[in-house]
Amino acid sequence: MKSYDVAECGCPLRLFERPTPTPTGSEVLLRVLAAGVCHSDLHFWEGAYDLGGGKKLKLTDRGMKLPLTMGHENVGEVVALGPDAQKMSVGGVKIGDRRLVYPWIGCGQCLVCRRGEENLCLKPGFIGVHRPGGYSDHLMMPHPRYLVDYGDIPAEQAAPLACSGVTTYGALKKLGRDLVEREAVVIVGAGGLGLMCLSILKAMNGRGAIVLDIDARKRAAAMQAGALAAIDPNAADAQQQIVKAAGGALWAAIDLVGSSSTVQLCVDCLTKGGALIVVGLFGGAITIPTPYLPLRALALRGSYTGSLGELKELVELVRKAPLPYVPMRVRPLDEANAALADLKAGRVIGRQVLGPGG
Ligand SMILES: [Zn+2]
Ligand SMILES: [Zn+2]
Repeated sequence: MKSYDVAECGCPLRLFERPTPTPTGSEVLLRVLAAGVCHSDLHFWEGAYDLGGGKKLKLTDRGMKLPLTMGHENVGEVVALGPDAQKMSVGGVKIGDRRLVYPWIGCGQCLVCRRGEENLCLKPGFIGVHRPGGYSDHLMMPHPRYLVDYGDIPAEQAAPLACSGVTTYGALKKLGRDLVEREAVVIVGAGGLGLMCLSILKAMNGRGAIVLDIDARKRAAAMQAGALAAIDPNAADAQQQIVKAAGGALWAAIDLVGSSSTVQLCVDCLTKGGALIVVGLFGGAITIPTPYLPLRALALRGSYTGSLGELKELVELVRKAPLPYVPMRVRPLDEANAALADLKAGRVIGRQVLGPGG
């Protein structure tokens, strides 16, 4: 099998050829049909998160080992099964099945895992982060339970549901269905994640989104995708524009960028009792006067990916109400480095997917 791996943080991915592994136990081997190129791959590639004030959080200190095959948004076709996986009659898979991969795998033993929130496990074994991912022609999964039937959704549209989809769905669910149906939601960032969030909000019968992005082309893409308004967060009167677009009071914001200035702007715009969900890992730090939290009854919450249950819910939602699809560029696996470079340079509108169809 061949894969493009991070051999050294920040350096171009290197082509590795290894023998294709044989599944043992409950393992399932998939041939990769589509692997989304996600913004967080840039962090894994660079090997760090920015904590603000010149501080960095190194990913190699958090269980990431090199060389690493990235790629956590994968769709594949089952090509081989371990002996235990073959025997599973309920929840099993068979050769030729096409499945969406749930990548946020935990230890399976602890309380959060047993509660069904493996994405929050303290001993993660995430696909494309701690285990080899989909920047490859083959992918090994530890168990069929992580493989989700995506029906007739096209493979390259299904793949991003595993990360950008479930991440934005998880954030929207934290705001609550009632709130998103009743009130306009600010979405910071109109990249792939932002457009995905906008689409899922629609599928959830949301009132609509006010999208913030510094890039005029991305604001135009957001308007085309049905945003209520698209505003430049660097405009001198950004706060007034946002509150006006929200109808006088902003109740909810999802920050998919997560920089010092975007989180600050969201906090400044929220009305009493409002909620901010931070998803983006751009990095930075903010100072909030602590009395604001009680006096303005603010809810400030982080959200990290989503659970296996949420991914299954999302797939059902999308199968019933197909998303107004996010613009998608399918590229061959051999263009993995170019895809990362384009993403880093901000040249991508929508989403890139690697795969044999590229
Ligand atoms: Zn991702
Ligand atoms: Zn666990």
